[in-house]
Amino acid sequence: LKREAKANLTEMQSSINACEADERAEQKKMIALLESMQKRITELESKASNYKQKLIDQRVITMTDTLTKLPNRMAYEEKVENEFVKANSRNTLLCMALVDIDHFKRINDKYGHSVGDKTLQIIASQIKKNLAPSDFIARWGGEEFIILLPNSDLDESFARLEKMREKVANLPFMFKGARVSVTVSIGLIDARQSLSVDAAFESVDKLLYHAKQDGRNQTIMHTHVKDA
Ligand code: GH3
Ligand code: MG
Ligand code: MG
Repeated sequence: LKREAKANLTEMQSSINACEADERAEQKKMIALLESMQKRITELESKASNYKQKLIDQRVITMTDTLTKLPNRMAYEEKVENEFVKANSRNTLLCMALVDIDHFKRINDKYGHSVGDKTLQIIASQIKKNLAPSDFIARWGGEEFIILLPNSDLDESFARLEKMREKVANLPFMFKGARVSVTVSIGLIDARQSLSVDAAFESVDKLLYHAKQDGRNQTIMHTHVKDA
């Protein structure tokens, strides 16, 4: 009986050992599987973050004007909607200015298109340099720039834009050995007076036209009553 019991015990022990070995093997497999899943997740996370960065980069490219490196019209359209909503809902300041280079066609005609391009780049960066960091500037198109000033009232905006206009007029451009001065005309409005973004643009464009008619190289502002 004792022998039989011992034999049974030995058999049980070896089957326990076998079970434990199976379990260990199973555990090892599971750990390997988890590790490979973790690796895959890390790979996917890094791929997703690469795609996200690519989308951000692509968006910046889509919203940037290639010549001046300023935000383009698409960027302006998105920005102006947001600024309008903000100004109306929180009753905060919002001025809008439209800047147009004076007689720009003459520069192209007289000195060539690439001199015109370079002039545009220099003027764009000079305008930007003279704005506050919170101001927004975009190349509206051609030789026109649109500016949103969300932190200054009409008088402050006027003073700042006039300073910028003078800086531009004093830039020492040398074309074909001759000192040439390039000027800009500016229309400025308090955008909160307008009922819509389109109406605001129309108003500021009209004032720019007046600045041109009145001899150019000047800023014309206007506090008009709310659009009918
Ligand atoms: P005004 O004072 O009335 O604004 O006269 P202007 O000559 O500036 O205006 P006009 O609209 O007659 O001409 C604008 C010129 O700007 C015509 C166009 O060839 C030039 N232009 C627009 N975009 C570019 C550009 O990207 N590069 C160059 N070189 N010229 C451009
Ligand atoms: Mg123009
Ligand atoms: Mg012009």
